[in-house]
Amino acid sequence: MAYKKIEQYDEEVTKTLMAHYAGVITALGEDITREGIEKTPERVAKAMQYLTQGYQMDAHAILNGAKFKEAYSEMVIVKDIELYSLCEHHMLPFIGKAHIAYIPNGYITGLSKLARVVDCFARRLQVQERLTHQILDAIQESLQPQCVAVVIEARHLCMMMRGVQKQNSITTTSAFSGQFQKNETRSEFLRLISSELAK
Ligand SMILES: [Zn+2]
Repeated sequence: MAYKKIEQYDEEVTKTLMAHYAGVITALGEDITREGIEKTPERVAKAMQYLTQGYQMDAHAILNGAKFKEAYSEMVIVKDIELYSLCEHHMLPFIGKAHIAYIPNGYITGLSKLARVVDCFARRLQVQERLTHQILDAIQESLQPQCVAVVIEARHLCMMMRGVQKQNSITTTSAFSGQFQKNETRSEFLRLISSELAK
């Protein structure tokens, strides 16, 4: 049988959200019975559950589920991991890239798992600073590598569409543990990802 993607939503949560969004749309001055908008509360209710699915994910389970004994002890870098999150102050998206590096200490993880850990914490109401540290902590605790580095660059729609309306500013946050706190190792990591940072 061909691959089928099935999306599942909690019925109770969907109903609750639908009722609230119908209220929000009406309060904004729209006619909730208008054809184009009639099903919007349901669509938004489902979209919001999708965008916040990280609450149902367990970062440690993701990393421990693909943890392999390996003597490799050089720097492992995964850069340009796409990141989609929602700022917790305005519930507007911030989108960008995460770059992760670690130096193993007996264990490595599947590379795709690092991307899933980013999703786990990004798919929630977030601030970029906390997101950066949560990713670092989950990797440090699960794999217990020698050290971890996380850099996130993102554009915040709450800055672009409202408030100061700064279209081109990119916010960069970083967190380092162990050797990455030392200049030499950190510089090597930053040099290796810098071709992307310059874009
Ligand atoms: Zn915001």
